[in-house]
Parts: sequence; C-alpha cells; structure tokens
Amino acid sequence: MDTLTIDGSHGEGGGQILRSSLALALATGRPIRVVKIRAGRAKPGLLRQHLTAVNAARVLSGAEVSGAELGSRELVFTPGPMRAGEHAFSIGSAGSTLLVVQALLPALLVGEGRFEVTIEGGTHNPSAPTYDYFVRVLAPMLRRLGARIEARLDRPGFYPAGGGRMRIVIEGGGSQRLAPLDLCERGEVRSRLAIALISALPRHVAEREIATACDRLGWDASACGVVEAARSPGPGNVVSIEVQCEYVTEMFVAFGERGLAAERVALAAAEEAAAWLAVVPPVGAHLADQLLVPLALGGGGRFRTVQPTLHTTTQVDLLKQFIGVEVAVREIAGSEGVWEIEVPPRS
Ligand code: ATP
Repeated sequence: MDTLTIDGSHGEGGGQILRSSLALALATGRPIRVVKIRAGRAKPGLLRQHLTAVNAARVLSGAEVSGAELGSRELVFTPGPMRAGEHAFSIGSAGSTLLVVQALLPALLVGEGRFEVTIEGGTHNPSAPTYDYFVRVLAPMLRRLGARIEARLDRPGFYPAGGGRMRIVIEGGGSQRLAPLDLCERGEVRSRLAIALISALPRHVAEREIATACDRLGWDASACGVVEAARSPGPGNVVSIEVQCEYVTEMFVAFGERGLAAERVALAAAEEAAAWLAVVPPVGAHLADQLLVPLALGGGGRFRTVQPTLHTTTQVDLLKQFIGVEVAVREIAGSEGVWEIEVPPRS
C-alpha cells in the first residue's frame, strides 16, 4: 500500500489529527507520513502524550517508525498486523492516558483477539476525556453498538503529578462490525449524578462544589456525592456532572485550580449540563468528534448534535482523505443549533 501523507496542521491542527491518523493506519494497515505535527501550537511537535500514543501504536502493530521523538514534527509509521494480548505503557508525565486510548481504541474495536492495555499518566485532565467520561459516556455508547469494552481505574492521576493508572480490555470484533448508530433524540432522563472527586485537598472544597452544583441544577442531595481518591500521587479536583438518558449519557466536567473558588468550578460544570439539558440534540460536542472514527470503521450511523467543532470537521476531512468515507454534516432546517451527522458504512 502507498504511504499516505497527512498534513498535521490541517483544520484543528493539534494532537487529534495525529491520533486519528494512527488509529486509521492501525485499522487499515496503511503506512502514513504525518507532516507539520501540531505546527501552530506553542510547543509544536510530539509531546509525551502524543509520543506515547505513537509508541503504543508501534508496539501493538509491530510497526516500523521514524521520527518518534519528543518535539518531532514529522513521523513515518508503517504498521504491521495488530498483536492481541497484554501491553503496558507509561507516559512519564501527567499527559492524558485517555488521549492515548483515543489513538488505539478504533483499531482495537476492529482487531482480532483480546487486547489488555494498561496506561500510566493523567486520568483526569482538562481538555481531554476523563476516565469517568470514558466509562460512563463513550464506552457504553460503543457497547450499545456491540463493542466489548471493559475498563478499570487503579488510581487517578491529575496534573501536574500524574501517576494515575487505568486499564482497558477490548475483545476485538474482527470481521463482525459494530452495528449502525441511530441517535436523534436523548429520550427520558433516567438518572442524574454530580460527583466532586478530590485528592489531597480539604474535603470542604468538594462539599462546597457539590452544594453549588445541586443548587444550580435544582438536584436533590441524593444525586450528589464526594469521592476522596486515596492513592493518587498528587493533589487534584474535578467536578463531573452526569445525566443518563434513555439513549445517551452525557457528562460535563470542570477542574479545580489554585486560586479558583470551588463554587466557580462547580458552576462551570453545572452551566454546561444545564445548557445541554435545555437544547434538543442528544450528542454533545466532545462525544461527536470521538464517535466519528469508530463509526466510520464500523457500521456507520447518524446522530444529532450541536454545531460541529473544529475537532469534528477535521475528523470529517481526515476520514475522507484516509478511507474515502464522505461524512454528511448538515444543519437541520427549522431547528436552529441542531445538526445531523451521517457516517456511511465503510464499503
Ligand atoms: P493539542 O495539540 O491542542 O495540545 P491534544 O493532543 O492535547 O491537543 P486535542 O487534539 O485538543 O488534544 O483533543 C482533545 C480531545 O479531548 C478531543 O477528542 C475532545 O473531544 C476531547 N475532550 C476535550 N474536553 C473534553 C471534555 N470535557 N469531555 C470529554 N472529552 C473532551
């Protein structure tokens, strides 16, 4: 197969185009050259999280790789067949383990055999899916389409200490594709949960967060809780607000920061949850971009969502370039702010 050249600065131009390119290379066996990796970022090229994704993809497929170094802006990756079994990787910083998962997951879903992957680093990072988001939102959605995914959190890791550890176990579907997704409404709200997770911080921080979130959302105290992480190597705090509906679960998170009042942290997450509950489309902006590659490699599908982000449109362009899949993205006439995305099944 010819090597496909991908412009890493296209569209969103960050780490995601690299991770999705790796995922598609693993799933299709096609060699890739990624140029201008994260070109416009303040620290361009491969950071530890991206490099760990490259190395994990190399080990999982016995790939030949050049350019796999910190800061590298060009990578050539020639994958071999996927190797099932146990694999362990460490980011060596608080970089997001879930973003490493993002580079591997689509290929594991369509691979042959049982993959057990353990990753150390950050498990609850801003601007990335948290471990809880993965297990409560993305994994159940993929399971509904037939994926066999389990996950376990050994200990959470926060920025800057890192040191978290998580594990995913996936039974690849091989030639058995995921079922098509059809998700145009969220259905009835089934349950609500607001959790303040803290590590090495006073408990009152989490209690104030929970009180603020429940007050803003008008939720009963039984829908709220504090979780104190005993084994995380450093301090950290995240508020996660989960709404489980008949056809989809969504989660909205905000991270505690030094100098930022607990109430402001909780309000940020609660406002996002309230905004989602007030609009019609079931799929939030983050879930939309994370569903595209698994759907394109599986049975396709359609879903309704909010206005697509640059992460989403960049994935759409990459899928067209890489596997020739034309994803349709359109605003629904007469329903302002509601978009439909349709992914055809791979031929
Ligand atoms: P950069 O190159 O900008 O440093 P990065 O490699 O750290 O980027 P991005 O390319 O920005 O990461 O990708 C972030 C991913 O994390 C996207 O898939 C996005 O949907 C997801 N994400 C960000 N915030 C959340 C959130 N709050 N909940 C769930 N997923 C999130």
